[in-house]
Amino acid sequence: MLTNLQARDVETLVHPYTNLVAVRETGPLILERGKGVWVHDVDGKPYLEGMAGLWCTALGYGNEELVEAAATQMRKLPFTHIFGGKSHDPAIELAEKLKEMAPVPISKVFFTCSGSEANDTQMKLVWYMNNALGRPKKKKIISRMRAYHGVTIAAASLTGLAGNHNDFDLPIAGVRHTTCPHYYRLAEAGESEEDFATRLAADLEALIIAEGPETVAAFIAEPVLGAGGVIVPPKTYYPKIQAVLEKYDVFFIADEVITGFGRLGTAFGCEAMEMKPHSISVAKALSSAYQPIGGVMIPEDMYQAMLEESRKLGSFGHGYTYSAHPVAAAVAVKTLEIYERESIFERVRAKIPHFGARRAALEDHPLVGEARGAGLVAGIELVADKKSKHQFDPKLGVAAKCVAFAQEEGLIVRNVFGDAVTICPPLVISPAEIDELFDRLTRALDKTLDWAV
Ligand code: PLP
Repeated sequence: MLTNLQARDVETLVHPYTNLVAVRETGPLILERGKGVWVHDVDGKPYLEGMAGLWCTALGYGNEELVEAAATQMRKLPFTHIFGGKSHDPAIELAEKLKEMAPVPISKVFFTCSGSEANDTQMKLVWYMNNALGRPKKKKIISRMRAYHGVTIAAASLTGLAGNHNDFDLPIAGVRHTTCPHYYRLAEAGESEEDFATRLAADLEALIIAEGPETVAAFIAEPVLGAGGVIVPPKTYYPKIQAVLEKYDVFFIADEVITGFGRLGTAFGCEAMEMKPHSISVAKALSSAYQPIGGVMIPEDMYQAMLEESRKLGSFGHGYTYSAHPVAAAVAVKTLEIYERESIFERVRAKIPHFGARRAALEDHPLVGEARGAGLVAGIELVADKKSKHQFDPKLGVAAKCVAFAQEEGLIVRNVFGDAVTICPPLVISPAEIDELFDRLTRALDKTLDWAV
């Protein structure tokens, strides 16, 4: 029986990433407020937010400094834009700060409102650049199976999940997907991680050659794949992939929408994963999700090509009304200030061994095939048989059931792809709360086991 608020919800809202039939029966979980890593539903029940919302509320809930930063900017100038040669202080300050923090040389920043828009912009900029450079055929973009880069038409095409393509008539032309770097599932018998990485680099090279290197413009990668089930590539994977990209003059885009700003214990995931990209997409933890903002961090040579096009065409014909929205930019500036002042990334590094040990211990559970992760993000893959790695019938929805049991236990986790349960708590989680998270998850796994057998 739905509550009044739930009934009004299902009569009015289309829920993203939701079974639209099931939610009409169950009604949604309606949240009302939050503090630290905890959120409360409308009945006052507390939940540990084990997903930081959607991998984004890095500083947790109820951060008054961020609220104040937004209120102050709203009072001063709630909106102005940066089109047509206008600007404002928060945008300038934020771009300066990002340039300073960048793990690779970055010349300029273009702001968006989301991660999807950042990746769409990346694709457009690569095309724009190659037109400026007089190589109009070099336009294809290679992504990976199980990658997640967003849902706008171009970003969803880069995403390598069937659920984002089926019946949406995607992917669009010119996007290819290479092998996912998931050793647990895709390694051949007896293959070492190193050999697996070598094989995946060879797969990428074969794809570039088959397509024609003169047609391949860019490769895009999340340092650690997130929504695809939290997949951490083997250690030597990126150096090997980069060698191939360099050989064929393929631009390298890092999608740091989840890994940016401390998730892996470093400012950017690239630093933890030995990646040397040319450009970087950011969003989510850029503002700790208190305001919607994303961006593309652009290298000098790409910017020079953009200048060239502006010389030729007049205006740079791209931008969103809310690009560098002043309130969002002010909140992001404050977020970056807090990360630095409170040594948030160093404190994440100190928490990683405990989080990692609790994660790894889940592999002792009869349902868990692989408890993988890096930094403060994890993917727990549920299997019907640990030895053979045999999967459950997808129709059973085992991971979704586990997520529902976790919710009963007062823990929010997610299942986006396959039978993986994902965990990505706010970076400010305490060691005791890490224990609470894994204790609750273990109870949910026990209930799932009882239910599944
Ligand atoms: N890229 C990555 C790695 C993401 O995880 C996401 C969202 O989860 C996106 C892009 C898309 O971001 P948004 O939902 O803000 O459009």
